[in-house]
Amino acid sequence: MPTRKTPPANPDLLMDLVAANRILAMEGVLDGYGHVSVRSDKHPERYYMSRSVAPQLVKVNDIMEHGADSEPVGDERRPYLERFLHGEIYRQRPDVMAIVHSHSDAVIPFGVTRSVLKPIYHMASFLYSGVPVFEIRKTRPDNDLLIRDAELGRELAKTLGKCSCVMMRGHGMTVVGDGIPEVVFRAVYTQTNARLQTAAGHLKGPIEFLTEEEGRRATATNRGTVERPWELWKAKVMASG
Ligand SMILES: [Zn+2]
Repeated sequence: MPTRKTPPANPDLLMDLVAANRILAMEGVLDGYGHVSVRSDKHPERYYMSRSVAPQLVKVNDIMEHGADSEPVGDERRPYLERFLHGEIYRQRPDVMAIVHSHSDAVIPFGVTRSVLKPIYHMASFLYSGVPVFEIRKTRPDNDLLIRDAELGRELAKTLGKCSCVMMRGHGMTVVGDGIPEVVFRAVYTQTNARLQTAAGHLKGPIEFLTEEEGRRATATNRGTVERPWELWKAKVMASG
């Protein structure tokens, strides 16, 4: 028997998750693929994420509660195939409250070359903690690149470690944050940083990246203003209802 659904989540949390889906689609971080989740406010080992639908089309009724095993709780609708990466990161990182998984084309080069994604400007200063690359072949030599079970989710979470972002070779990226506004901010600016770093790579180098100390300080400053772009983005995507 499936576990019964728990008391409904805070409606504002679910509406923010809907907004996050639409914002990330608007910004090109997500397209028909990719997903965003938030840790449950009722059961910290669980999380909320849409059923398998394109992010721009997500409505509040599409959101399902997922258990610690990443299976939908008391819900027969089809979940995202790669849901395990969310569940296993929430398990290994108690500080993480929201996660974005994206196939943004801007970041792909940084998973398949020796160029390491680094903070090139203050908006992506959170990358100072490092951006490791997940090599799925180390866990699963015969693979289709997707995080399709808990074992792969665990290994991805291990590679992420204490960082804010992990590249996935030949696949995409996963970004974590302390809530929906922060994870959306980070996903958007990781994508922009990747574009800028690629552009700077065509100019006369070497590239002057932020120092670790600058990264730390700018991250602390940005944390105080993350609500500003969040409110702007949310107003844009929710204006149409
Ligand atoms: Zn994926």
